[in-house]
Amino acid sequence: MDWEPVIGLEIHTQLATKSKIFSGASTAYGAPPNTQACAVDLGLPGVLPVLNAAAVDMAIKFGLAIEARIAPVSVFARKNYFYPDLPKGYQISQYELPIVEHGRVVIELEDGEEKVIGVTRAHLEEDAGKSLHEDFHGMTGIDLNRAGTPLLEIVSEPDLRSAREAVAYMKKIHSLVRYLEISDGNMQEGSFRCDANVSVRPRGSKEFGTRTEIKNVNSFRFIERAINYEIERQIEILEAGGQVVQETRLYDAARNETRSMRSKEEAMDYRYFPDPDLLPLEVTAEHIERVRATLPELPDAKRHRFMEEYGLSAYDAGVLTASRELADYYEEVARLCGEAKLAANWVMGELSGFLNKENRDIADSPVSAAMLAGMLKRILDETISGKIAKEVFEAMWNGEGDADTVIEKRGLKQITDTGAIEAIIDEVISANPRQVEQYRAGKEKLIGFFVGQVMKATGGKANPAQVNALLKKKLAG
Ligand code: ADP
Ligand code: MG
Repeated sequence: MDWEPVIGLEIHTQLATKSKIFSGASTAYGAPPNTQACAVDLGLPGVLPVLNAAAVDMAIKFGLAIEARIAPVSVFARKNYFYPDLPKGYQISQYELPIVEHGRVVIELEDGEEKVIGVTRAHLEEDAGKSLHEDFHGMTGIDLNRAGTPLLEIVSEPDLRSAREAVAYMKKIHSLVRYLEISDGNMQEGSFRCDANVSVRPRGSKEFGTRTEIKNVNSFRFIERAINYEIERQIEILEAGGQVVQETRLYDAARNETRSMRSKEEAMDYRYFPDPDLLPLEVTAEHIERVRATLPELPDAKRHRFMEEYGLSAYDAGVLTASRELADYYEEVARLCGEAKLAANWVMGELSGFLNKENRDIADSPVSAAMLAGMLKRILDETISGKIAKEVFEAMWNGEGDADTVIEKRGLKQITDTGAIEAIIDEVISANPRQVEQYRAGKEKLIGFFVGQVMKATGGKANPAQVNALLKKKLAG
């Protein structure tokens, strides 16, 4: 049978506030255990949570960016469960009335098609602490630094139809929260993690199949593998006449498989109820407009602008706008050198290649936008050829200074002096009488041979167009 996967993602993104969502404790990553947990985070009696306004603004910002409805009134609820890293015995989240509802995100598919993915809701909640097993023998340590860190949980509609689409959606949300500067999106540190709900159904069927939920995957590669594994597993069960059990599963990257963790809990298991310590959250229309005024240009708008303004293809514009930093870098290079396409080729080619090879972010590229533009200007004014430019780029990357310094120091200036080129051409002609004879007898493709000889004699520094023209003249005579 032909099976169709159905996938919905729940993404938890850590909001980049300085302090926690309901307390004044710092959210900085990497502090010694339990040094950033105050009485509120520890769940001690006699203290009350106070909502962090910055977290609310970030949620609104996200909601506006996905064209969602911002609820004029939303409610914080207690989600009750027991876990050693949850000292209060409940997590403060939003349940029936979340702050953001009914949004949409556009993803680009490989064939250039676009697809709209619905966002059911995005709600504010607090993170739990962390259990530490490694440093303790026969015991578990509890670190509550993370307890109370603000999270935005973004829940998609079950609109995704393949692992590829799921990854494209996850990348889009990742790019969006970074554009909006509401999260650093750091996946290693757990600032951006994803639960994937997966089911399959016979293609053409209207109903959804029973789903499983894969918990807490924090890499694009792993989410794709985990979903594909889960799709295969479910198809095998169904084709053997069995039934998929609704449950929570864990992805084991080392073995590339998912394993059952626990049977799926139902909402009623959590005994949700409005938190009596917190007032309903009211957001006025003026408040929303104030936040709207802080929205930057968003990735989709930027991509379309790059296509129009710089004449880039959809693909190139997509690559260059994947992150705000890369887009800014590109625009500066394009502006400074005045040739948008040349700038795109170098940013996507040489620069990205070097960044990838050394696994560096654009922010710590040793070649700044100004330096790259300075070099491109030397290509444009024919001081160097595109080929020599690669050598110049590598030298700049390795700290030898800007393009002019490198060109000067290494003697890479293109030879454009007609007299100098002619002298070399004369030498080449007299050194190769047989080829000259053949050329004059009609074997014109030998021009390539002569150009090669001249370029070799000049260490690649002669201006190729000039060499060509001068050679033709001399060989004709
Ligand atoms: P829960 O509260 O149990 O996590 P929700 O109804 O809020 O469940 O859905 C959570 C996620 O699961 C959403 O992203 C939703 O799109 C997705 N989902 C719901 N039903 C299915 C299904 N049958 N197959 C795949 N994904 C599903
Ligand atoms: Mg869930």
